Amino acid sequence: MRLYNSLTRALEEVVPVETGHVRMYTCGPTVYRHAHLGNLRTFMLADLIRRALEFEGLRVTQVMNITDVGHMTDESSPEAIDKMLLAMEDEGLSPTEIAQKYTEAVFDDAAALGIRPADRYPKATEHVGEMIELTEALVERGHAYVVDSGSVYYDVTSFPGYGALSGNTLDNLREGHRDLETDSRKRNPADFALWKAAGPGRLMKWDSPWGEGFPGWHVECSAMSMKYLGERIDIHTGGTDLRFPHHEDEIAQSEGAVGHKVVNVWVHAGHLRLAGQKIAKSTGNVVRVHELEERGMDPLAFRWLTFQTRYRSEMDFAWDSMEDADRRVKQLRRHMAEWAPAAEVLGPAARDLDARFRGAVASDLDLPTAVVIVNELDHSAVVTPGEKYALLAAWDQVLGLDLEREAHSVWAISPDMQALTTERDAARAAKDYATSDRIRDELAAMGLEVMDTAEGTKVRPRD
Ligand SMILES: [Zn+2]
Repeated sequence: MRLYNSLTRALEEVVPVETGHVRMYTCGPTVYRHAHLGNLRTFMLADLIRRALEFEGLRVTQVMNITDVGHMTDESSPEAIDKMLLAMEDEGLSPTEIAQKYTEAVFDDAAALGIRPADRYPKATEHVGEMIELTEALVERGHAYVVDSGSVYYDVTSFPGYGALSGNTLDNLREGHRDLETDSRKRNPADFALWKAAGPGRLMKWDSPWGEGFPGWHVECSAMSMKYLGERIDIHTGGTDLRFPHHEDEIAQSEGAVGHKVVNVWVHAGHLRLAGQKIAKSTGNVVRVHELEERGMDPLAFRWLTFQTRYRSEMDFAWDSMEDADRRVKQLRRHMAEWAPAAEVLGPAARDLDARFRGAVASDLDLPTAVVIVNELDHSAVVTPGEKYALLAAWDQVLGLDLEREAHSVWAISPDMQALTTERDAARAAKDYATSDRIRDELAAMGLEVMDTAEGTKVRPRD
């Protein structure tokens, strides 16, 4: 499989460090508020990459962090109030309860979208010790310095590769990033915090060699990714807005601490836009999973909607396109039920479509092309229904649309119903249409739609 590596700005073959086993790290949610569809599109990218690699027969270990500290404050202002504290006051819950509540909510939303669980979800609050160790290592190796307030900063001039991921040079960082945290004790305005002294209003704080404080946000991903995936990680994913400073800083921290390259391929998901604006909590421009359900849509159809756009591109969310996607996914499920059962052997036309589908997926997850191939399969007059079923069922391992749902419910018909369809086929074969019609009515009275197909009578629950 080839993926676009944001670091080298080139398509690269994924060649796992350990043969046959891909290690992937995904920047996870910040858990003091709900995830919206834009966040979830980013998590879905990691899910799709993992499904695509497994489709090729590779094993994938995926770790996703839960940010429950360290990214909660407007870091540009020393008096800023912890957002966790605000959420706590609003909702009358403790920090642990807030984190628990929103972690469960994001897991539910992800599951509704067919995003399969990661192998591990380390929490930042449970890895402060590892973050302190990493910070100590960076101080020892001359990449970080302690200021008298008890904060520790990364010295970006100590890491020659700083800026490679985002394309920022130190000069334009000085010029263009005045919003970077300001602390007069920093050596360079672009230096970033690894550890911050706890100020007033700071709820979550820990003891450290530098006094009471809390970790910077970026350091959690370096510490937890290397703890669980080792010092050589195949793929790292996240939203495009994390490229700078979060991932740039992560590279500087991880590589500064171990002295060699850590992540091979960086993959970034484009923004989701709503009515032309980036979906973001700050603009009040948010759609959540439950709104899809409230409008009678299957949340899995959001997957099909995202497949129309390359993952790196910005994508516009519109309710009418979402409705189209919902109709299309439900239609494909009905077609699957009509096509069942799966053929055991594929003819040349089916094999050709299969090769093209696999090629599209392996080509930097080209899902718009995969969608065209699914539509071609659906309309093909050459590929048999059984072949269509077999192919789409296999492709659904990547698509994750639960396309066999309706076929399975049809094939789960009761022995009574099965006996009636068999009896009806026998009556039709004997040209006993009175009996055949009587059985049809009987099946209809059981709430079933009765279809005459080339393979005989088929039934499915009426919509
Ligand atoms: Zn991260």
